[in-house]
This record gives sequence, C-alpha cells and structure tokens, in this order.
Amino acid sequence: ALLVLENFIGGKFVPCSSYIDSYNPSTGDVYCRVPDSGKEEVEAAVKAAKDAFPIWSSKSPLERSQILNKLADLIEHDLEAFAQAESKDQGKTITFARTIDIPRAVYNFRFFASSILHHVTECTEMATMGCVHYTSRAPVGVAGLISPWNLPLYLLTWKIAPAIACGNTVVAKPSEMTSVTAWMMCKLLEKAGVPHGVVNIVFGTGGKAGEALVCHPDVPLISFTGSTLTAQRITEKSAPHCKRLSLELGGKNPAIIFDDADLSQCIPTTLRSSFANQGEICLCTSRIFVQRGIYSEFLKRFVAEARKWKTGNPSDPTVDVGALISKEHLEKVRNYVKKARAEGARVLCGEGVDSLSLPPGNQKGYFMLPTVIAEVKDESCCMQEEIFGPVTCVVAFDTEEEVIKRANGVKYGLAATVWSGNVGRVHRVAHRLQSGLVWTNCWLVRDLNLPFGGMKASGVGREGAKDSYEFFTEIKTITIKH
Ligand code: NAD
Repeated sequence: ALLVLENFIGGKFVPCSSYIDSYNPSTGDVYCRVPDSGKEEVEAAVKAAKDAFPIWSSKSPLERSQILNKLADLIEHDLEAFAQAESKDQGKTITFARTIDIPRAVYNFRFFASSILHHVTECTEMATMGCVHYTSRAPVGVAGLISPWNLPLYLLTWKIAPAIACGNTVVAKPSEMTSVTAWMMCKLLEKAGVPHGVVNIVFGTGGKAGEALVCHPDVPLISFTGSTLTAQRITEKSAPHCKRLSLELGGKNPAIIFDDADLSQCIPTTLRSSFANQGEICLCTSRIFVQRGIYSEFLKRFVAEARKWKTGNPSDPTVDVGALISKEHLEKVRNYVKKARAEGARVLCGEGVDSLSLPPGNQKGYFMLPTVIAEVKDESCCMQEEIFGPVTCVVAFDTEEEVIKRANGVKYGLAATVWSGNVGRVHRVAHRLQSGLVWTNCWLVRDLNLPFGGMKASGVGREGAKDSYEFFTEIKTITIKH
C-alpha cells in the first residue's frame, strides 16, 4: 500500500483533496502520495498559526526552550526510523542519514533551545538628556518556511527551531519530493508540548503551495532555502508586501589546492566535499583548482580514490553514493557531463567511462558514478553553473593572484576551501575570496553560533545563533526619560 501523507494544521492531520506521487529514487517506484496543497490549505494553516501566536509568543524563552529540548529527545529516540525514511525518500545513503541528517535535525532543536536563553539586548545612557535607551526584541508573527529536497529534515528544522524558539508560529512547506520526515515529525509535536497551531506543515509543490505562502498577506517573513531561480521568483512575489526575506541559495564552490597542501588530508576531504550526499549539498565542491606542480599527482590519486566510492543501494551501509533525487535531475546532471565532453574536456572516471553495476532491485533507480572532469575551460557551463550532482571539475593554476580571480569568476559565492600549509597564505586568500564561508584545510566543520550564508547569487542574509535570532525577531528602540 502507498504511504499517504496529510497536512498538519492546527495540531491535526487533515486530508487534502488532491495528491502528488512521490518516488523512491533508488527503485524508481511511486511509494508515497503527498498532498497537493494550494491557497485553501495555506489559508487554513496561516489562520491556525495566527491563532496560536498570542499564547506561544507570550511564553518565556525557558518554557519554549524546554519544549524544543523535548522535541529533540523524541526525534532522537526515533532516529533510526527517521534515517530509514529519509534515505528511502531522498535516495541518500542510510549511513549519511544516520550520521548527518537526523543527528543534525536533533541538534538544531537542542542548539536553539539553548541559544535562545543567552541573548542580551543593548542599552545606552544619555545622561545630559536624562535618558536611557534600550532595545527590545519580539517575535514577528507567522513565519513562512520553504525548504529543499537535498537535506530535508536537517534544513527544515534549521528554520523551524529558531523561528519557534523566538516565539513565532510557523507554516512550513517542505519540498514536494521529500516530505515524509517532516510529516513524521508532526506526530511528535503534541507529545513534546508544542501547542496546536505553533507548527503547521502544508505539503505540495512550489508553484502552488509555496507561492500561496509567499503571497499570503499575513505572513510577514519568509525563510527560503533552494535555488537562485526560485529565490528570484519569491522576491518578486513578496515585493508588494515588503516581506522580510532570508535566502539561502546555490553555490559553485571552489577548492583551491596549493603545492604545499597536505594531500593525505586534502584528497579524502575533497572527495567528500565533491561527492558526499551524491554531490547534492549546496556546499559541495565542484571546481577544484590545483597548483601546477602537484596537478598530475593530485589528479591521479584523486581519480583512483573516487573510483573506490561504492555506488548502489542506499540502504546498504557499505554504500557511499546513493541515488539522485529524480529522473529529471539525473538527466540534467548527465547532460552537463555530455556538454563537457563535447567541449573537449576529459572525463577521467565515472559517467560514460566506468560501468555501474546495480543490484536487481535498483536497476530503475537514478544512480550515477562519481565523475571527475579535467581540462574544462573556466567559461564552460560546467565551471559556471551549479550541477548539484556527483560531478567535479579539476583544473590547474599557477599563481595565488590568478587563482583568486578565477575562483571569484562565477555568479555564486557560498563556500570555498583552501588547502595550504602556509598560514599567511590561507588568511590572505580567505580574505579575498567572494564567499560567505571559507574552510581552510577542512570542509563542513560548522559552529552553529556563527553566520551561515552566501554572497552574490548565493543568498541574502545569514543564519546562525545571532543571525537567526535577528531575522526571526523585530527590534525596537525604547527611550526612557526620567
Ligand atoms: P528549488 O528552488 O527548486 O525548491 C526549493 C523549495 O522551494 C521547494 O520546497 C519548492 O517546492 C519551493 N518552490 C519552488 N518554486 C516555488 C515558488 N515559485 N514559490 C515558492 N516556493 C517555491 O530548489 P531544490 O531543487 O529543492 O533544491 C536545490 C537547490 O537548493 C540548489 O540550488 C542548492 O544549492 C540549494 N540549497 C542551498 C542551501 C543553502 O543553505 N545555501 C542548502 C541546500 C540547498
């Protein structure tokens, strides 16, 4: 029997009048039906969120914190079930879901449960006027949260946790391709003590449900993670209402590898940064610049190691690369490799070079081998556009000055890695890269206290302890004369 999801509105599961098919990417079968919500469902969810706002916003931070912690405990208790569901729904490996996605979803709630207790506001004194000024922060109202399919529960909770910790109520719309874990979480809300209407989830497509949320006059802020193209549409649609927007978008992230890099660290980490989660992470490396002196050695070792990554059934714990999200996405990613080949680039391993053998049950799944492309021109679409799959390009460079310019030569600016044993150089390069995040001699080491987000076409705004608090609250300056 197919799994049938329902919207979660005002603390109740509510059926929808029409549904969309959701596929298991590792088999190609429809296994789940997701509500195809529209204006009506969004209207009901916004109303429930508005009704819940006065009570929730007047709770103390400590009361909200305790509820968030309880919710974290409940998700953690069901970690294995959540991980299995995420892997089946998204195509990611069970290992990735178990060790990254779900633990991080749990941590998102714990982190904001703690961080909400530690904010202080500002105060200044104007003695000559007999005045003190101070600021106060209050929740904004109903927050609209829209999340993508690559890290479904991880990114959804990264928005829900700060939004409700600050005292807002929310209407969230997960990606129509990966809705299951959000629906599972709804079942835990009441037990955690989240009052009805504080968290509402409407499932459906971006064009229908997402847009209804973006256009709703009673939703003053939208936190969106997804593609740059969708963000442009959201910006246009929300403009008449002057909404507050936080936009976390795509990337075309460079790795810059100098000839004094420790390749024994750099190679395994750059493999992960290129291929983790099938390359479907906004922070994934897709342009690798290697200094000429070590270019051939790097390439040889990198390709040999990439070939060791096992692609196959995501529920097999020994598998490193699962299925891509959809048939259409797989086609799109494959087309980039085709274009690179047509332009004269060399495909060194993976797509079209090595053969992929899959278990009988996965023959119709959306799989692709980790693919390394060399000798790609900087202006090629493979070096300019976000591919969002297990494909990475490797090119040579000579000087620091040159590589900074080339690394910055794309419209995106989300994340970069720099590999060098020279501390002066890593600081210098990090300062000059147009990138919201720069990791040197590592990748994806995050302190959630610090700002996360992109420059240029990679986003507007930042998320993190202080940044999310500022986004999800409205500040007021109050002056008292005595
Ligand atoms: P997408 O933009 O297609 O969809 C994201 C969400 O927006 C989905 O829930 C979708 O239904 C919804 N949506 C689509 N059209 C809409 C509209 N007109 N109005 C309102 N909502 C709409 O992105 P995707 O394909 O799901 O995700 C992949 C993209 O997300 C990549 O570009 C990736 O880099 C980016 N991403 C960025 C970050 C980050 O933190 N910067 C993190 C993960 C993913």
